[in-house]
Amino acid sequence: MLFKTGIMSRSLQEIWQQFLLDVQDSCSPLEVRKWINPIKCQGESNDKKLVLHVPNVFVKEHLLSNYSQKLSLLFGTKKSQLPLTFCIDSTAPKKQVHYVKDNTNLAPLKQRTRPQNLNASYTFDSFVAGTSNQFIKSAAEGVATQPGHAGNVLFLHGSVGLGKTHLLHAMGNHIFEHHPNTQIACLTTEEFINHLVECLQNRSIQNMKKFYRNLDVLLVDDIQFLQNRKNFEDEFCNTFESLITHNKLIVITSDLPPKQLSLSSRIIDRMQKGLTIEVLPPDLETRVAILQDKASRRGVSLSTSLSLFIAERIFGNVRQLEGALNRLIALRDHGGISLKDISQEWIEQELGSLFTKTMQKVSVENILSHVSETFKVQISDLKGTSRAQHITFPRQVAMYLAKELLQDSLLKIASSFGGKTHSTLLHAWKKIKEKMSSDKEIQQKIESAKTYLKNPR
Ligand code: ADP
Ligand code: MG
Repeated sequence: MLFKTGIMSRSLQEIWQQFLLDVQDSCSPLEVRKWINPIKCQGESNDKKLVLHVPNVFVKEHLLSNYSQKLSLLFGTKKSQLPLTFCIDSTAPKKQVHYVKDNTNLAPLKQRTRPQNLNASYTFDSFVAGTSNQFIKSAAEGVATQPGHAGNVLFLHGSVGLGKTHLLHAMGNHIFEHHPNTQIACLTTEEFINHLVECLQNRSIQNMKKFYRNLDVLLVDDIQFLQNRKNFEDEFCNTFESLITHNKLIVITSDLPPKQLSLSSRIIDRMQKGLTIEVLPPDLETRVAILQDKASRRGVSLSTSLSLFIAERIFGNVRQLEGALNRLIALRDHGGISLKDISQEWIEQELGSLFTKTMQKVSVENILSHVSETFKVQISDLKGTSRAQHITFPRQVAMYLAKELLQDSLLKIASSFGGKTHSTLLHAWKKIKEKMSSDKEIQQKIESAKTYLKNPR
């Protein structure tokens, strides 16, 4: 069958070539030059692994920490079982620190070119906002519009693939384009550490300090990698404090909220004093919009029904949505398939491995009956319009749980609550979210309801 000749039957080397093409599309030329081009594919080993020659361990780590997900999608394996083996070439020239050209002349430079690590394709324009992430996009845009009035620290946290890095870079790009005299550095925590190590080795630590302390904006990605690295943590904290003292802007991303990071209380306190926002998974409407936006940016037209079919099956991670799109495009290009004519069965067969597996069968009915039992109120009251406090609170809890746990559109969920509107649902969701952040007991109660509904005994 024609369709069977998709990605699955391609050799490891062909898949690697596909990966390189995808990366070229999605990364800045600098990133490609620095981190991807140095990787040389040497063919397949006897045990059916792709042998990759890298000049140093950083290039390997960069690949694995940034692209494991993408590679696992392409190879169709788990992240921990990627068919890759690395040869580290210790004779290659040492990787140069790229933050500065001349260590002796760091501080006075005002940038004229885009900061090196900024991915120019991560902009506010390419970040699709829906109900769940509109607030965070507006907050990030607001801070980037007036970086000098930002109140210092913005902390974005949330699970992987939800757009934290995208927003961080979008802020950097916006500031770079609209505030030409602003000195910006954008780097991952890993890069900060590498930079520090390099400067320690070169005995140029004073220059490094000067470099960071002369910045106007510091954008740091994935601060969770600073955990359990005490020496680096101290130096980061010093940098951080010095920038705060001078009223500079620091934006940090993390996969955990500040309180849950195992870092010193000194640094956590500092982070908590800023604005902390959680990046939430996009709802169904937003996932469809993201998929269509990404497709149209690549010159592909995806019908609404096809986008909906995919978006209903991949949730909680936008990177996976992109993975599905990449695979569709690759199948179209290599299999000569028209995306207009494909059936849902075909997609299920070709993209099934990307679909979120653990979709629990939670329904509005389960939620209503669980909330009714827990709060001792009638289901009819939960669906009704009474404004009595002992009913409105459980009703808001049920709506919150429905929005969190169901994959249906907000409109559909709202209408299952006796025909409520989409904005009533969102209002309820926000109220409960606020209560959860200020009241531990409510938070625990709702978290346990969530767990119960996902795994009913
Ligand atoms: P994180 O840093 O949270 O792990 P990323 O910022 O790397 O996630 O996002 C993963 C991918 O998903 C990126 O390619 C990004 O462009 C895309 N993405 C995430 N959220 C959105 C969104 N709301 N609109 C458009 N693209 C998004
Ligand atoms: Mg990220």
